[in-house]
Amino acid sequence: EAKEDKEKQYVYYHDGIHQGFKQEYELENNLRVALANNELFLTYQPKQNVKTGEITGMEALVRWKHPTIGIISPLNFIPIAEKTGLIYQIGEWVLHEACRQTKQWQVEGFQPLVVSVNLSANQFNRKDYLLPLIDRILAETGLDPTYLQLELTESGFQDPVLVKPILEQMKERRLTISIDDFGTGYSSLSYLKQFPIDVVKIDRAFIREICENKGDQQLTKSMIDLGHVLGMKVIAEGVEEIEQIELLRELGCDEVQGFFIAKPLTNEEFIEFLRK
Ligand code: C2E
Ligand code: MG
Ligand code: MG
Ligand code: MG
Repeated sequence: EAKEDKEKQYVYYHDGIHQGFKQEYELENNLRVALANNELFLTYQPKQNVKTGEITGMEALVRWKHPTIGIISPLNFIPIAEKTGLIYQIGEWVLHEACRQTKQWQVEGFQPLVVSVNLSANQFNRKDYLLPLIDRILAETGLDPTYLQLELTESGFQDPVLVKPILEQMKERRLTISIDDFGTGYSSLSYLKQFPIDVVKIDRAFIREICENKGDQQLTKSMIDLGHVLGMKVIAEGVEEIEQIELLRELGCDEVQGFFIAKPLTNEEFIEFLRK
């Protein structure tokens, strides 16, 4: 259901893709060129504390500015990047750029914020890869690890033997871990308990009709309570109306993220947003 909704939202990007690329390999080749030509850029979507109204951090969301097609959504190129292995290069670029920019804003004197970066399950699959990469990027950019959060979807937890030790070592480094699109995958309660997760992000599919749909409301309440029982912070994604925020506050949700607060913003727009 969440996927359908995402696809609907990006129909115009899909059309662009069909006009621009006849075959998937064409998209893949273009994506290689995009990396070389610096056509990727990051947008930042703020997260807000529902009780205090304070901005607590932002999520880095990648975009591709194709010279003729225009802006392409990650929904259109991340899956191909994952299939072709280009996700490693893209993931490295995203991590580096998010850390660099976040540190830069701190140096410029803005309130220190936590940046969260989405990771693909693939990035956990290479041996001795992800942690050294993160260490190197933090050293290069000078960002303190407490300001980097990693977002992983439930599918990323499929191989606990592989993933758990990496997450534990992330915690040792004082990085924080968030479970993305919660409720849409199939994470068992025992996984939730045994993995060192700091934040649960409730998927937009539950939030969309939360004011009208009693079932969604009860499910959301259960997920908030579950997160709190396990000592996690709970954030709701895809908040588009003030009524949803008010209800989420009543249900005890900690933070919200969504178009009502701000869409994903360019660097300049994000700074403008922070100033207001
Ligand atoms: P996600 O991590 O769950 O990010 C949330 C998506 O929902 C974003 O789409 C965001 O623009 C959109 N969104 C936020 N608030 C609202 C709202 O109020 N209403 C609606 N309708 N949508 C909202 P986006 O930027 O297109 O990203 C889609 C997905 O692509 C992300 O889902 C994430 O899974 C993936 N992605 C984005 N950037 C990266 C990246 O750097 N690396 C990897 N591996 N995946 C990425
Ligand atoms: Mg995310
Ligand atoms: Mg999400
Ligand atoms: Mg989602």
